[in-house]
Amino acid sequence: MPAKPKDSPKTVSRIDRLSLSTKAIHGKKLHPYQGPVSLPIYQTSTYRFKNSGDAIRYANGDPSVYVYTRYHNPTVHDVEEKIALMENGEAAALFASGMAAISTAILSFVHAGEELISTPALYGGTYRFFRDVLPKNDIGVKYIQPEKLSAFSRLVSSKTRLVYFETPTNPTLALVDIAQLVSEVKKAEKKFRTRIYTMIDNTFATCLNQKPFDLGVDIIVESATKYLGGHSDILAGVVVASEKIISAVKTSAKYYGGCADPFMAYLLFRSLKTFELRVERQNENAAALASRLEKHPKVLRAIYPGLKSHPQYELARKQMSGFGGMVTIEVRGGAKAAVKVCDSLAVAVNAMSLGGVETLVSIPVYSSHVHMSKKELENHGVTPGMIRISVGVEGIEDLTADFEQALEKI
Ligand SMILES: *Cc1c(COP(=O)(O)O)cnc(C)c1O
Repeated sequence: MPAKPKDSPKTVSRIDRLSLSTKAIHGKKLHPYQGPVSLPIYQTSTYRFKNSGDAIRYANGDPSVYVYTRYHNPTVHDVEEKIALMENGEAAALFASGMAAISTAILSFVHAGEELISTPALYGGTYRFFRDVLPKNDIGVKYIQPEKLSAFSRLVSSKTRLVYFETPTNPTLALVDIAQLVSEVKKAEKKFRTRIYTMIDNTFATCLNQKPFDLGVDIIVESATKYLGGHSDILAGVVVASEKIISAVKTSAKYYGGCADPFMAYLLFRSLKTFELRVERQNENAAALASRLEKHPKVLRAIYPGLKSHPQYELARKQMSGFGGMVTIEVRGGAKAAVKVCDSLAVAVNAMSLGGVETLVSIPVYSSHVHMSKKELENHGVTPGMIRISVGVEGIEDLTADFEQALEKI
């Protein structure tokens, strides 16, 4: 007889739980080991009780009683289990968007009178949330430059509850040394005898290319709209962490209300089946495109963590298992030239967002970094001639030819 695969007992029991909720929909009609291959959609806002005893059990804290979809939904639950397994975390919470996941997770741990420390190069929505919303709620935000992480000990205080960062950053694809940042936070926790959570936005790298839990990070947030969804057709967000952390996040999610919709969860589950295939191809395409564009005379620089010319190439090799699908180029001739290129592309699509199977381009000064002051742009390392490319799964020859013809139009 062939040997059984050696799954850790924990993984096996989680997978068992996964199939359990799938079985529930068909109740007693199916053999205990039978069930649908695809994920059933529980398109319901509420759940019928067998009798009022169920309501009482729920009120007394029994988590197995389904009550209302803003609290829990079996389709959503199965996707959360799958993502938790993929990310190597204990549990996950699914949200209606990346921003819902990020804002809910942050507000679960940082309260009025407290503060968070962040690296400054962030997704535009997150940056504006920190700049415009948190201070109005009496939550302070301090910034640390990723190349000066040793300054952390001077920045941190007894009010610091959370350290937030993104790596690779948007759109300059600069890296934050995850292990070093985690070790600075650990030192500060000892000094102040308090818990300081570390939270990474892992959207750009994804769990295929970067495993933050292995490096000691507490919480992963991710816009599942991007690589996890992968088809530019859904909005979703996810928080992955320990059971204890996720339980706190889910409690605040009930009140902030950014919960996931069952149909979106189904579409996301479908996307996850091809996640690895897509992202591996995107890694390959991005590496090939970046090295071609780097040599192009109209391109001042091509930024990609997998290029030897990337200033943090060694760090990329240390903390990433793949270099991702995002490439940023800076063209000669500033914003005008960048516009010319984007408007001349035929295969790549001129659209915001990223992570889908089709290549998308955007100009940061007109998209993620629009309406930012000169000083803010400088802080973020963004220049007018930059084009951010989210590389898709197209044939690489079609893609490079498309960029070459568009660059000729400058
Ligand atoms: C898109 C994005 C977000 C926000 O996600 P939504 O799903 O659009 O709300 C957050 N972080 C990063 C890095 C992103 O690219």
